[in-house]
Amino acid sequence: MKLTIDTAKCSGHARCYAVAPDVFDIDDLGYAMPIDREVTEPLDEDIAAGVAACPERAISVR
Ligand code: SF4
Repeated sequence: MKLTIDTAKCSGHARCYAVAPDVFDIDDLGYAMPIDREVTEPLDEDIAAGVAACPERAISVR
């Protein structure tokens, strides 16, 4: 499975970074930096927290 961020949906809330700074990174304006990486289930707690924290549903695991 892949963890990705749809940067077109990201609105710069920086919530993903706030809950999981080891997984997510943001730019100077609070927008998430692109991610495209393989992940396995069960999801790491930090990844799951970041997905749940995003109000724009910009973070996905498929
Ligand atoms: S929480 Fe969602 S909208 Fe906010 S910076 Fe992260 S990916 Fe973007």
